Amino acid sequence: TDSPPTDLLAQLNENQAAAADHFTGPALVIAGAGSGKTRTLIYRIAHLTRHYGVNPGEILAVTFTNKAAAEMRERASHLIPDAGALWMSTFHSAGVRILRAYGEHIGLRRGFVIYDDDDQLDVIKGVIGDIPGIGPDANPRAVRGLIDRAKSSLQTPEILARSSEPYLSGIPKEAAAEAYRRYEARKKAQNAIDFGDLITETVRLFQEVPAVLERVQDRARFIHVDEYQDTNRAQYELTRLLAARDRNLLVVGDPDQSIYRFRGADIQNILDFQQDYPDAKVYRLEHNYRSSARVLGAANRLIEHNAERLEKTLRAVKEDGHPVVFHRAADHRAEGDFVADWLTRLHGEGRPFADMAVLYRTNAQSRSIEESLRRVGIPAKIVGGVGFYDRREIRDILAYARLAINPADDVALRRIIGRPRRGIGDTALARLMEWAAAQKVPVLRACELAEEAGILERGAAKATEFAALMAAMHEAAENYEPAAFLRFVIETSGYLDLLRQEGPEGAVRMENLEELVSAAQEWSAENDGTIEDFLDDAALLSTVDDMRTQRENKDVPEDAVTLMTLHNAKGLEFPAVFIVGVEEGLLPSRGALSEAGGIEEERRLFYVGITRAMERLFLTAAQNRMQYGRTNAAEDSRFLEDIMGDFEVWDAYGQQTDYRTKTWKEYRPTAVAPSPVKHTSPLTAQMAYRGGEKVRHPKFGEGQVLAVAGVGDKQEVTVYFASAGNKKLLVKFANLSPV
Ligand code: ATP
Ligand code: MG
Repeated sequence: TDSPPTDLLAQLNENQAAAADHFTGPALVIAGAGSGKTRTLIYRIAHLTRHYGVNPGEILAVTFTNKAAAEMRERASHLIPDAGALWMSTFHSAGVRILRAYGEHIGLRRGFVIYDDDDQLDVIKGVIGDIPGIGPDANPRAVRGLIDRAKSSLQTPEILARSSEPYLSGIPKEAAAEAYRRYEARKKAQNAIDFGDLITETVRLFQEVPAVLERVQDRARFIHVDEYQDTNRAQYELTRLLAARDRNLLVVGDPDQSIYRFRGADIQNILDFQQDYPDAKVYRLEHNYRSSARVLGAANRLIEHNAERLEKTLRAVKEDGHPVVFHRAADHRAEGDFVADWLTRLHGEGRPFADMAVLYRTNAQSRSIEESLRRVGIPAKIVGGVGFYDRREIRDILAYARLAINPADDVALRRIIGRPRRGIGDTALARLMEWAAAQKVPVLRACELAEEAGILERGAAKATEFAALMAAMHEAAENYEPAAFLRFVIETSGYLDLLRQEGPEGAVRMENLEELVSAAQEWSAENDGTIEDFLDDAALLSTVDDMRTQRENKDVPEDAVTLMTLHNAKGLEFPAVFIVGVEEGLLPSRGALSEAGGIEEERRLFYVGITRAMERLFLTAAQNRMQYGRTNAAEDSRFLEDIMGDFEVWDAYGQQTDYRTKTWKEYRPTAVAPSPVKHTSPLTAQMAYRGGEKVRHPKFGEGQVLAVAGVGDKQEVTVYFASAGNKKLLVKFANLSPV
């Protein structure tokens, strides 16, 4: 398929071809998932050059992720010879390129640096200390979130100060505006810009220097934007300015897939397109080429429940295919094992692992999936997230634990002495380290003897306070079980309070810490060891993770299952998709319940997940989910009720119940299997019953397993036989065979 097709438009359906043949003027392609929007966009670009003779050097296409941009470039290169001249990039890299070329016009000096999240924090910490209403103990992350959000909607400090709200993220608006102002000034003095600036500074450049805008417009006479539903105000303005002269703007999107409102994306941008460009041609694509009819049916039924949407038609091109599978597992481990078993099974049928993806709502959920996959040796790559034990908050808490156990661990001390901030400044710390080195004692000892070490009154008090905290943790390490000890560390360190002030991002980190406590709890159930042993295991896991999670890592085999959040899955497709944790509190998330429009946004997110599946879709939920070391009953997601219909539920392996006539609420599971027997190969897995299996007994004939109790030699099953009714049998002796 390397020679380009001679007739491009013949590769498209009628509506797609019409859109791809759109020549000049504004156009909107609005269509559901998998309808070929991205494909049409790429073919349109190829068609522009091949049919209309447009110079590839005058074409711009913008997408949201680097991965999507790379894929676009790759696909275009199969269609046109000089695809290298096309400008295909993300909004952010477009911004970098423009500012590198013309930034001097707005005072950016050559060689400016781009600050990442952590650099941003450093700057913020340095400027907010003495702002009235913020104070030295304020959370710099809250301030960063506030500044980022302001930028995404093109708000200056002056606009913030005039806000109708007296408080912004809990900070008085005047103080917020002052922090924003100082942050900008400091950043400028250091000749740096941040991520948000890549867009807003470009907008400012275009507004202030029309000659530059024109130069860039010459390079972008034909502009394309994919995933337009997720543009924020700043990106919208950037696009508007760029397209203002030639007006050849084609945007592609699906309002039902708008999932970034919490980051300032404005669904209104796509809804208002026709008002902004009254002469815009609108193209609708109504056939879904990606998913089987059953998968698409579930997606369509789900999204119909949103009130705030444009009606769209989306018909399946593909056959019915396999039923959608729902599995309610006893707990998150059983859930992970169910996924691992199905991955193994599909792989056994000849499907590469690379064809399969596991999607989840929160990064914290990846741990139990990772572990289940690791147990059976399924290679996995995690996209867009660091491995669990590499996450900052996990490393921080483990560093506290290390220091508690070993007061001489200076590396751990340096890592956590400022998290949360304890009023021990950089100079004081430097002095303590110096003194400790001279006396040949650990830095923690220097903290204890701070006054002797030459620290002044107030600082000395803070340092001894810290030493006392660590002494308390030291004692806790000796007296408590690993999980309880970690909870003690998390709570007494002040770390939880720190996260509580961080808003949504802090909530995610808090969930990860809850996971850490759960992990320790599970570890203790299986290992007879101390916290030191647990820390060693965690450190080893983390090294393994390091290798497995680095984005371009060669150590992950090419053929690996993809693990990622629902957000990261946007625009992608996989033959087999698993969505785990379809439960209240996860999907929809707890936070969404209290926000206006929150449920609808979560429903769109679930819609995005479902529509990634081409052939097979598996949904799972756990009946009990362990959070923060405690197991709580979980409830099925309300969204399952929405997709009732031609939808089938598998209670366990290979046993399906047809639900067509029932409502979700009427459904009650017949038997709940306890947490499954641990297994190492799919072969032995088949020997462990989970309830639901059909079996044959030498005397009673065929029957069905209703309930399972015990493990290993003691496993006992309750089987219903047509010939004999319910029988309780010890598996070891019953001589059952599968049917
Ligand atoms: P999303 O909303 O998820 O971004 P999309 O609308 O961009 O989806 P594409 O990714 O472009 O959809 O297409 C979905 C799948 O359908 C792709 O595998 C694509 O190659 C295929 N496809 C689209 N149109 C056609 C067509 N006319 N003939 C054959 N295959 C098609
Ligand atoms: Mg797409």
